[in-house]
Amino acid sequence: MTEMLFCYCCRVHHPKDQMRLFPTKLGDRWRCIRSIEAAASESRTRDAFGRQQTEINREAARHAAERLSLLRPERCV
Ligand SMILES: [Zn+2]
Repeated sequence: MTEMLFCYCCRVHHPKDQMRLFPTKLGDRWRCIRSIEAAASESRTRDAFGRQQTEINREAARHAAERLSLLRPERCV
């Protein structure tokens, strides 16, 4: 019989071999690997989104610079 531990994240019991002690504000809590990995991949997605935003901003800045050079054709070589 596998020992079951209460997962504070899913609020259900999982077998102990799927559980990891996870540090929280209230101290270490048992949490399943699946929910920890899900949270980790979520933050990776957020990082990717942040990079995409940076790319969009850079592109917008480039377009603005192009428009500026069109307004001042004498500065174009
Ligand atoms: Zn869980």
